[in-house]
Amino acid sequence: MIELKDIHKSFHKNEVLKGINLKVNKGDVFVIIGPSGSGKSTLLRCINYLEKPDKGIIKLGDLTVDTEKVKKEQIAQLRKSTAMVFQQYCLFKNKTALENVMEALIVVKKKSKEQALKESIHYLEKVGLQDRLNYYPSQLSGGQQQRVGIARALAINPEVILFDEPTSALDPELVGEVLEVMKSVAKEGMTMIVVTHEMGFAKEVASRVLFMDGGVIVEEGSAREIFDNPKEERTKQFLYRVK
Ligand code: ATP
Ligand code: MG
Repeated sequence: MIELKDIHKSFHKNEVLKGINLKVNKGDVFVIIGPSGSGKSTLLRCINYLEKPDKGIIKLGDLTVDTEKVKKEQIAQLRKSTAMVFQQYCLFKNKTALENVMEALIVVKKKSKEQALKESIHYLEKVGLQDRLNYYPSQLSGGQQQRVGIARALAINPEVILFDEPTSALDPELVGEVLEVMKSVAKEGMTMIVVTHEMGFAKEVASRVLFMDGGVIVEEGSAREIFDNPKEERTKQFLYRVK
């Protein structure tokens, strides 16, 4: 479904991804953990070409992208098939919740305004925001804004949703409502790659957990294998620190 082969990325002389190999099956919830600066965000950004990898292969469904010979249409295709949910929500401040979701449908999916309106309402209902359709981001709590971000991601009906620390900017009492929405999205079979420090979420929902450090995947396994019985010393130390 998604496969990464030997992905490399440097910023000047700083090699941030040093050959990442990864296979995600349809419906999997892949959780990525690791210390600050280990390359987690860069990896997600490479998957949807917010950053251009220097080397490696990205496979997504029928699409195979050799990043050293990438074509414009392939980048467009990758972006259409992936959606990103950001730590800082990244909503348009001058648009309502409804307009934020509609914009994605009109611009990315080329839907008519009428169709976009109908679908946007559906997805905002799914994340429990049916009574906040016409609110602007400044009138919503952080948790509500993030749920708009998730509705926007769902609306474009991607092959995979990439979550980059979706709850890290939230007040602690608002984390739960966003995790609940993410769990329901997972239950419906959406393929998800989630960078998070929410170990409880990972234990409950993750099909696979991957520990990254220094631009490499140190260890990968089921949530149980990684949390209860980590093999690598670096994983043990990290888990000890975040517990
Ligand atoms: P965090 O947990 O703090 O979010 P992370 O694992 O997501 O960390 P990245 O944001 O991927 O880490 O950053 C990895 C390394 O790449 C860091 O050393 C960072 O400074 C560097 N880096 C990331 N983006 C850029 C950029 N656009 N230009 C230069 N260096 C960058
Ligand atoms: Mg990051």
